[in-house]
Amino acid sequence: MGTLPQRTRRVRAARAVSAIALWLGLLALPSVLCLLFPGPLSTESLRQHYPMPFIRGLIQGGIFVAIVLAIISLALKGQRTRGGIALVLAMCALALGGGDAQPVEHAFDAPLIGLDFLLLDLFALCLIFVPLERWLGRRQKVLRAGWHVDLAHFAASHVAIGVIALLSVAPAHLLFSWVLESEFRDWVASLHPVLQFVLVVLTVEFANYWVHRAFHRVPWLWRLHAVHHSSREMDWLAGSRLHLGDILITRAAGFVPVFVLGFEQGPIYAYVLLISFHAVLIHANARIEFGWLDRVLTSPKFHHWHHADKPEALDKNFAVLVPLWDDLFGTALRTRQWPQSYGLIDGEMPESWAAQFVHPFRRAARAKPEPTPQAQAVVGPPGFEPGTKGL
Ligand SMILES: [Zn+2]
Ligand SMILES: [Zn+2]
Repeated sequence: MGTLPQRTRRVRAARAVSAIALWLGLLALPSVLCLLFPGPLSTESLRQHYPMPFIRGLIQGGIFVAIVLAIISLALKGQRTRGGIALVLAMCALALGGGDAQPVEHAFDAPLIGLDFLLLDLFALCLIFVPLERWLGRRQKVLRAGWHVDLAHFAASHVAIGVIALLSVAPAHLLFSWVLESEFRDWVASLHPVLQFVLVVLTVEFANYWVHRAFHRVPWLWRLHAVHHSSREMDWLAGSRLHLGDILITRAAGFVPVFVLGFEQGPIYAYVLLISFHAVLIHANARIEFGWLDRVLTSPKFHHWHHADKPEALDKNFAVLVPLWDDLFGTALRTRQWPQSYGLIDGEMPESWAAQFVHPFRRAARAKPEPTPQAQAVVGPPGFEPGTKGL
């Protein structure tokens, strides 16, 4: 008789403890991010009035209580998932510096919502690419199937541009802040801007090449990246079909060499400007070939093969800007033909932004055999020349 109320009480206690732990964890992590990045995350007029020693003590105390309660919930049956999430949040907050976290030097200082940039970028890209694709592209409707999904991806990545930028610089700051005082960074910053630009291109592209390969190899990364490969028609807007997690991981990896080597801002901005335009161009429905320059700069044809739904194109042409790393590591595919069709070889993708956003996290998507291209045999048709010898 007495066991049921006792069990009920225990379940209720576990629920309450885990809920408090989770809420404290959810509050602690953004609070520490505010300490690290006060510029974009807190209001300047209010900031001057905060009693900082008290606030820092409150955050540190909250993290400590969250950890203790999370451990208690893990020990109690019933609410272990909540307890686990709370523990991860609190430990992340602690790892980022907890209540003692200091503002990050040279922190990102741009506005968090980029609505104005979205509209300007969309207008400029339409102006350039719609006529270009009518002139040089294969016959295809401007408003082809799935355009509205890609437009939603375009809008989401632009609206969240500040948040993405903020989060993508955090890992480098967190892991490599010890290099800030190194003389090597000063030496790199003293190099000629053109040389710095070349080094930015090579090092960022190297990082992104390997991250892109990892996206194709590691099952949970592939679930994010499969969204990008689900476009069935290529055009300037198709390149925007990227899961926000994909964008975030790629940018975070690309920022590491920039941060560690300490380039000046000019060469970095030049690279960002170039890659922003080039990433759109290589997806465009424009039959542009670069000839000999194709060894130096990726062409639309080079990247279109990355999206082809043919077995011979699997795990090929990972580069976005320079094909050098594909050539060196044997993943370049060049051929005279253009691909005829695009998309996922295996697996399906829902056709709305929200459904694509949650798709990688759905149980069904996880349970299905992974459509990782690496897992499939790469067989070319007779006469097809994979590798760098094709052209
Ligand atoms: Zn890919
Ligand atoms: Zn692409």
